[in-house]
Amino acid sequence: MFFYDWTYLLIIPGLILGIWAQSKVKSTYAEYSRVPTRLGRSAATVVDDLLRRNGNNKVRIGRVSGELTDHYNPGNETLNLSDGVFASNSVAALGIAAHEAGHAMQKHDGYAPLKLRTAIVPAVNICSGLSTPLFFLGLLMSWEPLLTLGIILFAASTVFALVTLPVEFNASNRAVAMLTEGGYVNGEEERGVRKVLQAAALTYVASAVTSLLSLLRLVMIANRRRD
Ligand SMILES: [Zn+2]
Repeated sequence: MFFYDWTYLLIIPGLILGIWAQSKVKSTYAEYSRVPTRLGRSAATVVDDLLRRNGNNKVRIGRVSGELTDHYNPGNETLNLSDGVFASNSVAALGIAAHEAGHAMQKHDGYAPLKLRTAIVPAVNICSGLSTPLFFLGLLMSWEPLLTLGIILFAASTVFALVTLPVEFNASNRAVAMLTEGGYVNGEEERGVRKVLQAAALTYVASAVTSLLSLLRLVMIANRRRD
């Protein structure tokens, strides 16, 4: 049957990578949130500085509860820093805050992959919600057009996961560049920032791998039904 199918094994590498990435993020964040930067300024004031220095005066900086819940919203141009980051002067806090500032600068510069990602979000949400029910219905009815439609709709979320990769890597590159150019971190601190951001990037790689493998699995199940 569908759920006890051996193709389920395909998903396992993605799951393992995801769990490993999550634990790597947590441990790296824990390590570098205990390392203060020599400059001693809070992430919130540094991020405000970074944006102004780079000619971006539109962004509103706020605070959000939770751990590692930091995010930038391109819709209303708000940048929210989590409780552990906002007032912290740690290497981890500056890295995470600067990464979000990197997203804000992407919007400011009209960076194409961010535009694309923002534009496809509503469609991706609808497609991914419909894909599994339609695919499952297609299996029950043994009706190929429905299976194909389910796969195409699922592919939308895979495209989203892939478009996310350049957006995230670029935001981290911008973060390191802005922090070092402005003299907010020294060489040693820069290496810490890179480690934190690389660990975070790994979670997006894991999501993309999982999504690709899931897509492959649907294609294999559909193909076998044709035999
Ligand atoms: Zn990001």
